[in-house]
Amino acid sequence: MLGVPREPQPLRVLYVSSEAAPFAKTGGLGDVSGVLPRALRRRGIDVRVVMPLYAGIRWDALERLEGTLEVPMWWGRARAAVRLGRLPDGDVPVYFLEYNRYFDRPFLYGPPGDGYGDNIERFTFLSRGALELTKVIGFLPDVVHANDWQTALLPVYVNTVEWAQPLHGTATIYTIHNLLHQGVSDGGALFVTGLGREHYHPGEFEHFGTLNLTKAALRHATLLSTVSPTYAREIQTAQAGCGLDGVLRERRADLFGILNGIDTEQWNPATDPHIADRFTAEHMDGKRTCKAALQAAAGFAVDPRIPLFAVIGRLTYQKGYDVLAHSMDRLLSWDLQMVLLGTGDRDGEEFFGALSARRPDKFKAWLTFDEALAHRIEAGADFFVMPSRFEPCGLNQMYSLRYGTLPVARATGGLVDTVRNYQEATGEGTGFLFGDLTPGALADTVGWALSTWFDRPAHVQAMRRRAMGEDFSWDRAAARYEQLYLDAYRRRRGHPFATGPTAPAAQSATASSRPQTFAPSPAPRTSTPRPAGRRGRRPARRSPRK
Ligand code: ADP
Repeated sequence: MLGVPREPQPLRVLYVSSEAAPFAKTGGLGDVSGVLPRALRRRGIDVRVVMPLYAGIRWDALERLEGTLEVPMWWGRARAAVRLGRLPDGDVPVYFLEYNRYFDRPFLYGPPGDGYGDNIERFTFLSRGALELTKVIGFLPDVVHANDWQTALLPVYVNTVEWAQPLHGTATIYTIHNLLHQGVSDGGALFVTGLGREHYHPGEFEHFGTLNLTKAALRHATLLSTVSPTYAREIQTAQAGCGLDGVLRERRADLFGILNGIDTEQWNPATDPHIADRFTAEHMDGKRTCKAALQAAAGFAVDPRIPLFAVIGRLTYQKGYDVLAHSMDRLLSWDLQMVLLGTGDRDGEEFFGALSARRPDKFKAWLTFDEALAHRIEAGADFFVMPSRFEPCGLNQMYSLRYGTLPVARATGGLVDTVRNYQEATGEGTGFLFGDLTPGALADTVGWALSTWFDRPAHVQAMRRRAMGEDFSWDRAAARYEQLYLDAYRRRRGHPFATGPTAPAAQSATASSRPQTFAPSPAPRTSTPRPAGRRGRRPARRSPRK
């Protein structure tokens, strides 16, 4: 084959995630997985997403692929169905692994504050199943992109069970979206992964006497990334490394911080269908209408002069809501209003729920998950409070900036990389940052925002316009990921990825052994397996999910 011209081929990336919006989302990982692949596709990358088919996903709108996928598990072979959908507004295929025993449950990971007891097994299935799928559909990826502990076994499998197999030459990327969750279990649980005891040592899975999937991924992946440059530095320290800082320091030359983007179409105040009126940095009248609507919805006095603060997010320790709770008495003694949208720890829900009942004139808590309301809050509020204890990237501060809602945020992780601190002397900046995570520092910084609102309104207006002009589009991040993929490919294969008819034929043993039938055409649509029945036809009856 050497010297024979071949067709230009796009880079092939298998993107595996335990959640992807709009199909399933509990937080930022879902947002990222729903949007980044689309931005990669726009760059000409043949990217395909694999995720579980959870209860609640509209399975009847998906194509059921012919046949079954056999996934080796510790107890035998799981026979799964595969359904095919696409990310909205694009051409990115999403393969849903349908295995009801693991995924037909009320929650993605477990009830609030708890995880299902068999989570290691459930997500072993996802990782192993994703690799098996590539062989069945004839899509041998150049890069496998794994995200967080649920997919941490992917780089390990590529280096072990796939050794000398078709996926042998595939490079792997492991992205840390949140290092707090590592996939930890009793050491004896290693058998669930199908791997032998020889992998249970500190160089792979063993971490102070426990099984740690993330640690193994950090050791095995070709390259590592996380979702902001500051978090990439922080997780190499004992304070933020969640026990894995030593491993991360060892691999610091392979660890990259790529700031997440946001979906600038979905989060666009000029077109947002959820909000009371549309607005832009040049025409801000609509924001006044949105504020009045939010004040009314919260049951507050409708008054444009009263600054309106907002909080949205998971009510967990990570987000620093305990500190916010301790500063609420002081905050509510001032001339402001505050709304909160969130779900999470019972303590947090009880506290903010009770406060909302006690101070209905100034504080309103919606203890629910409501995407449309999140848009209305971002549009209507003046300031957005984010007292995160740590924040790998954070999306809400970027949504806020885009809606001219100035963040009051703790200077940590991605918040440092996205919010520019206010300079009183010049009026520069896009928000208000504080360092110490204490009720006093948080209240002082809210007070700083408040005094700016009342004493220097021109600065607030200028900051708003500046904030709305920041570029948080995914295109910038997608270019960085593409470079990461190419670097990983070169590292794995020992030669650069080449496209175009003049590219040399595959040079490595692995690549040259790639069967022709596995080569997909550049357009993913045409290279997917034949669906059962006519494409697009809905199943006549609901297939059993139980
Ligand atoms: P994390 O991933 O740590 O939860 P991020 O800021 O990265 O934090 O992303 C959180 C995402 O989840 C954002 O899109 C945010 O708007 C959304 N979100 C969190 N809680 C709620 C809620 N109660 N209602 C609506 N959206 C929410």
